[in-house]
Amino acid sequence: MSTGRLTIDLDALAANWRALDAMSGAQVQTAAVVKADAYGLGVGKAARALAAAGARRFFVAVAEEGWAVREALGPGPEIGVFSGHMAGDTDMIHDLHLVPMLNSIEQLTRHIEALPGHPFGIQLDTGMNRLGMEPAEWAAVRDVVLAQAPRLLMSHLACADEPEHEMNRQQLAAFHEMTDETGVPRSLSATGGILLGPDYHFDLTRPGIGLYGGLPFEAAQPVVELDLPVIQIRDLVAGESVGYGNTFVAERATRVATVSGGYADGLSRHLSNHGVLFHADTPCPILGRVSMDLIGVDVTHLDETPKTLTMIGPHQGVDDLAEAAGTIGYEILTQLGTRYARRYARGRS
Ligand SMILES: *Cc1c(COP(=O)(O)O)cnc(C)c1O
Repeated sequence: MSTGRLTIDLDALAANWRALDAMSGAQVQTAAVVKADAYGLGVGKAARALAAAGARRFFVAVAEEGWAVREALGPGPEIGVFSGHMAGDTDMIHDLHLVPMLNSIEQLTRHIEALPGHPFGIQLDTGMNRLGMEPAEWAAVRDVVLAQAPRLLMSHLACADEPEHEMNRQQLAAFHEMTDETGVPRSLSATGGILLGPDYHFDLTRPGIGLYGGLPFEAAQPVVELDLPVIQIRDLVAGESVGYGNTFVAERATRVATVSGGYADGLSRHLSNHGVLFHADTPCPILGRVSMDLIGVDVTHLDETPKTLTMIGPHQGVDDLAEAAGTIGYEILTQLGTRYARRYARGRS
């Protein structure tokens, strides 16, 4: 086997859902956000594991993503669509029984005309200026909407991963102003908002990243492990270089392991001469540039010749790797490539 091995722990995923569910009161429902192929981990397997853990409501970003979720889950669970009801989505929304979160008067009109009586939610913009109806727009259609019994009124926090950020309280106040006394179920919080406490929970929470083991859910169980096979070992003398552009030049005798994996597998070029992999507990620095399919790693200090080196594991989680690559855990997960041999595990092995 010459591709990297990506291990996805479905029990850890389920445990993270249960832990986030337990953070809000019994009357608060906890959904599961499975957009972008369940943050890169495989939406069919992830959605089934989450449903088995107790999740009954799921969210995707666009209607096209609803197909795989519906196929995995069967007819029962509700699947919400954040991008709402776009032109061309009507058949998918109807046939897959998706619940669009309508973002504008245009989408509202399209939905009511094309699929009268089909369930929908409304997304409100409380200040992020990304998706949703703004206060004036909402005021104009609020009575019409409420007469149609929407399934959900939702909004999204811009700064929930910074608990002290004043934007959180501003958005909370705006959400109350737009939704109090509507009698409709409400949702404001993703992972970060759940951690802000009960004022932010309303009737339904929508965690994504925390399920998959990422920050800001610090207590998350790790879900992903990534091991890369060593294809070849090179012994360099002082003055020899490694990889494209000769950006690493050995100052002394150096043993280099060339591992299978590169930027085509979601391992950023920003890790060049900068990141580390692990051999058991021992860090092994990346030497030279990360190329498309290969990475050079310093194994001079190891007692044995490694067969694999670990990129994501007990000593370097998704967010540690993200920091080394100058990004966030969300991007590391969603960029994990299609070449890895994926193994879905139950429990730590
Ligand atoms: C992605 C997303 C979520 C989940 O966010 P996490 O930070 O991953 O928990 C929830 N709601 C909306 C609207 C989203 O776009």
